[in-house]
Amino acid sequence: MEKIAVFPGSFDPLTRGHESIIKRALPLFDKIVVAIGVNSSKNYMFSLEQRIDFCKKTFIDSNISIETYEGLTIDFCSKIGARYLLRGLRTSADFEFERGIAQMNSSMNTEIETVFMLAPPELSPVSSTIVRDIIKNGGDVSQFVPKGISF
Ligand code: ADP
Repeated sequence: MEKIAVFPGSFDPLTRGHESIIKRALPLFDKIVVAIGVNSSKNYMFSLEQRIDFCKKTFIDSNISIETYEGLTIDFCSKIGARYLLRGLRTSADFEFERGIAQMNSSMNTEIETVFMLAPPELSPVSSTIVRDIIKNGGDVSQFVPKGISF
């Protein structure tokens, strides 16, 4: 059976932190699906098309696909036959937050395993939220986002 992992997120915008997790996880799975969440109650800075475009420019590997989804992440995983949910951890706060989600997901669907990867130390302070703030204030975010992405 193919080992498919879903890496879900808002990617508003994609950062070097996301890029690091996906690239380092790639040897562990046959395929990684970068799943861009569509949540009508969230106010994104970048449109869905832009967020897809950032991912397409960054991940050209044939084992990585870019998809969008609405609703529960575990339902999306089941729909595409993914048994692994990939998440990144930067801090202990991330861990506590992610632990709750992973354990509740596991109660709802025991077939899906959440796999965590740590951020490399130099990327643990990087978040989409802070990148958005720098952009709003006219700063240069090039060191925090994958090469080839410009705003
Ligand atoms: P969400 O809205 O689901 O939190 P994000 O796009 O912010 O979506 O994050 C998606 C995933 O990437 C999460 O697991 C998050 O912890 C992880 N992540 C975000 N930034 C980093 C980083 N700098 N290093 C490692 N993982 C990260």
